[in-house]
Amino acid sequence: MSTMTSTMFQPELEAMDPKRLRALQGERLAALISRLKASHSPYWAAKLAGLEPGSIGSIEDLQRLPLTIKAELRDNFPFGMLAVPLADTVRVHASSGTRGKPTVVAYTAADIDLFAVLNARAIVASGGRREDVLHIAYGYGLFTGGLGVHFGGERLGATVVPASGGNPGLQVQLMADLGADGLACTPSFALLLAERAEADGLKERIQKKLRYGVFGAEPWSEAFRSKLEQAWEGLEAHDIYGLTEVMGPGVAAECRESRGSLHIFDDHFYPEVLDERGEPVPPGMPGELVLTTLTKEALPVIRYRTGDVTSFVAGPCACGRTSRRIARLSGRVDDMLVIRGINVYPSEIEAVLLDDRRVSGHYQIILDRRDALLELVVRAELAAPVGPDERAELLQSLAAGLKERLRLRVGVLVGEPGELLRQETGKAKRVWEVTSADDPLAALIDTAS
Ligand SMILES: [Zn+2]
Repeated sequence: MSTMTSTMFQPELEAMDPKRLRALQGERLAALISRLKASHSPYWAAKLAGLEPGSIGSIEDLQRLPLTIKAELRDNFPFGMLAVPLADTVRVHASSGTRGKPTVVAYTAADIDLFAVLNARAIVASGGRREDVLHIAYGYGLFTGGLGVHFGGERLGATVVPASGGNPGLQVQLMADLGADGLACTPSFALLLAERAEADGLKERIQKKLRYGVFGAEPWSEAFRSKLEQAWEGLEAHDIYGLTEVMGPGVAAECRESRGSLHIFDDHFYPEVLDERGEPVPPGMPGELVLTTLTKEALPVIRYRTGDVTSFVAGPCACGRTSRRIARLSGRVDDMLVIRGINVYPSEIEAVLLDDRRVSGHYQIILDRRDALLELVVRAELAAPVGPDERAELLQSLAAGLKERLRLRVGVLVGEPGELLRQETGKAKRVWEVTSADDPLAALIDTAS
């Protein structure tokens, strides 16, 4: 194996001997089941009914346990799944519910400590160091992103700037004045900040120091990574993964050597990749990521179906970390669009669009539902002005690329630079629906076709 080329926050744990790791996972699973059995929670009593305490001895026994779905969190809102008394928790977070109530999660002091440690691991994996200024532009509040990465940065010993979302003008001024070495936010907001820094004449100053990004909370393609690394010259853009139901950010992260795959911190989160029947898929094949929290106290989950599509990546990583790796997420199961019978992931559309250097990183996927037959329209934006001939050629080339990749006819619109709405907080909204002729997007689609 190659010599260790990168640093780790907890090398003795992150590069643990795989056999020892497997034994540790088994011990932790057994301890988790004992704790849940003793928790006096009706939810956990029902979930684990029929399971003899002591019958779980190794991590292989996990497959005998039932799966958990998101609806269980909703149905037990707000605290029905807690495995400790509410008095023993110190914080809650919540994810916005797309329909109805949000999902509320709670943490004990030990859970919060783990949250900080694992985010410190992720920041170091991205290239972060204790002497850095780390600018955090994830939203602070109920959303796990801001506070999650914040405490990770502090645990590392970095100088954390809790900028939160929004206000791009102030953000780029702060990055320039305070000398940000690292930037943590959604990838779409990182691109917006690059544009703002350029417009405000601050980009060169920021780029002198800015080395890495810790980007997550929304899916982003390799093509988007190229856009970001062009927009912020000298920056390495790294992916961080997590979800509120499991903890928040810091469940998995890319290291500098593993671009394209993420180390999952599997001494705390045991991963499986399963097909729709709940059976393991062969290594390298895509399936749904299913996670078991081995050490969480307040709100553990057993075999939680994340809805995220990934695959295991085989072989050791050059960085020396021994944790399992998963491929960068190709989308969420529920993000998948079905258009005239064909499955389409928004990430496939992004990959085609951003492959063309003439197109900016901003785009919209529009589902035109005005007629019985659903039409897919993609609205891109020019990176810089072009003449009419080149625009016509670009439209044709994008339409052909999308048709080849998706096996579907796709309408294409290309707007002027800066024309598309920039979103300053939260996850970028990529998919828009047009259901009536009153929708301003309807007029736009009709004039173009
Ligand atoms: Zn690695």
